[in-house]
Amino acid sequence: MIAILKQSASDEAVSHIVSWIEKKGLKTDVSRGENETIIGLVGDTTKIDPFLLESMDVVERVQRVSEPFKRANRKFHPEDSVIDCGHGVKIGGDQFQVIAGPCSVEGENLIRIARRVKAAGATMLRGGAYKPRTSPYAYQGMGPAGLDLLCEASAELDMPIVTEIMDPRDVQVFLDKKIDVMQIGARNAQNFPLLKEVGKTKTPILLKRGMSGTIDELLMAAEYIMSEGNDNVILCERGIRTFETRTRNTFDLNAVPVLHHLSHLPVVADPSHATGYTRYVEPMALAATACGANGLEIEVHDDPSHAWSDGAQALTPDQFDDTMRRIRAIREVVCQEPVQE
Ligand code: PEP
Ligand code: MN
Repeated sequence: MIAILKQSASDEAVSHIVSWIEKKGLKTDVSRGENETIIGLVGDTTKIDPFLLESMDVVERVQRVSEPFKRANRKFHPEDSVIDCGHGVKIGGDQFQVIAGPCSVEGENLIRIARRVKAAGATMLRGGAYKPRTSPYAYQGMGPAGLDLLCEASAELDMPIVTEIMDPRDVQVFLDKKIDVMQIGARNAQNFPLLKEVGKTKTPILLKRGMSGTIDELLMAAEYIMSEGNDNVILCERGIRTFETRTRNTFDLNAVPVLHHLSHLPVVADPSHATGYTRYVEPMALAATACGANGLEIEVHDDPSHAWSDGAQALTPDQFDDTMRRIRAIREVVCQEPVQE
């Protein structure tokens, strides 16, 4: 972190700020130029509130020179992380996976949908047993019985399951049932007690970006999980809320290469929640594949008009078959060796 002081800063003001910083246990490096004075802060800058420093009379502005996320940062871990999701399925680096299944676990149809998505080439099964709904009167999910249905499907098809956890008090249930991947949904992207609690496990976490979350906030949420000891974090771009109303959210595909640049963690993209409409899911799944996502999460339902949640964005199993064929074609193009200039 550096503090750039106003041109008018007197020697006395500079030494006052220097001693304020040093009293907080940091070292300073003062460089006096003709037009400005810059104080470099060396040490644990989390002890300094940059806004407080910037509010001081003689301070022009404060700039961070290193990102506040460390464990998720590619600078400290240059190679891509590859995360083992169980059942022989790994994600990250050149390992690309498709997570598919219904929005909610509803009952017996889960296994039918699961068989179809597996046959189409999905490698992980999704389904929500605990549903974060805007209305408390909307369907809230089957709870533990839904987890059991997922576990049965996982055992029959030898596929890892991905399912959302909303409450830190449920972590033990998810561990007891050996859930392969716990999803943290967009609405819980900054639920810090939940992030910390799942951070105490070793279970892979699919961490979704908050609907108004910046890329840095997503990385700091990952940092919460990793700082508790769980490095198995998969980031997920699922669209953000903007002024656009023609789609459910705005799919920020910029986030895919930006996250790859900043972090070593795998990045999954979710074109279902990002667009909200079946007709847009395939084109945006292909776009996300083309821009380098390590995986996709896609909602599939065998009877979308009767789905208990998110029917409007579900692909039918037949549509998913076609989409998977095109995803494979895009992957073939993307995975070719770069053209030598
Ligand atoms: C979901 O995956 O069904 C879900 C609720 O997603 P999000 O948290 O991205 O809205
Ligand atoms: Mn959904």
